[in-house]
Amino acid sequence: MAEAYDPGNIFAKILRGEIPSHRIYEDDAVVAFMDVMPQGVGHTLVVPKAPSRNILDADPATFGPLFAVVQKVAVAVKKAFNADGVTLMQFNEPASGQTVYHLHVHVIPRFDGVPLKPHSGQMEKPEVLAENAGKIRAALGN
Ligand code: 5GP
Repeated sequence: MAEAYDPGNIFAKILRGEIPSHRIYEDDAVVAFMDVMPQGVGHTLVVPKAPSRNILDADPATFGPLFAVVQKVAVAVKKAFNADGVTLMQFNEPASGQTVYHLHVHVIPRFDGVPLKPHSGQMEKPEVLAENAGKIRAALGN
């Protein structure tokens, strides 16, 4: 049986505005913000507002709005950083590498020959995250 959703998880706190984030997009169903330990420049997290731990317990109605935003953000980060490609990642339960238990999709701009940095590695400076968020917002037309 799937574990219960914990409303005290860090992304739930970000969604409620209890802790800050560098938001680049928000609509009725989805929020996107910068990953604080980016695996590459422009690493963004796209998070549905509906509570679920991950894909295993999510309401399927979540995926349409979520992936519409994933696509928007993928196009925007590619443009914002003049990337060669975009990697999507999504983890489910600890065995897969999940560390925050609120469903989310990683959107990471990629550059030919440049490997990803480690998952949940080093914290990025807030000013760098703010600058990158500004570039993505501009590419989104926000
Ligand atoms: P997961 O392993 O659950 O797929 O990924 C969680 C992601 O959340 C990691 O890439 C990690 O760097 C990021 N992260 C962890 N804590 C915070 C936080 O407080 N704020 C933001 N914006 N990202 C976080």
